[in-house]
Amino acid sequence: MRDLDDLFAALSRSRFRSSFQLRGRDLAYLQSKGLPTVLSHAEDFIAKRLAPAVIPNDGKQTPFRGHPVFVAQHATACCCRGCLEKWHRIPPGTELSEVHKAYVLAVLERWLIQRAAGFNEA
Ligand SMILES: [Zn+2]
Repeated sequence: MRDLDDLFAALSRSRFRSSFQLRGRDLAYLQSKGLPTVLSHAEDFIAKRLAPAVIPNDGKQTPFRGHPVFVAQHATACCCRGCLEKWHRIPPGTELSEVHKAYVLAVLERWLIQRAAGFNEA
């Protein structure tokens, strides 16, 4: 796990990661449902799609749109266990701990708060 300021600085230097923006229906969904509801969905996605020790379709389990959390996951490299290892130094092959899950949620929350406020990193 990384310091969030360092992480967000690194993400903003990645062309691929910073290409993900919240727009259209996904942004409207966040604005209409509100952050707490959207984050409760994030908890569910983390538990089902990231936390298990073995994920048969790892690397393909997160759609690119259809929910603001999916976009946030790609933007912050919380999309799969491969990216969690590479970007966040979370070891693969073991179930995510409560601390890991809370960390991923905090990363997604920070990104979503920025986007909900209309903030886009240059
Ligand atoms: Zn990934």
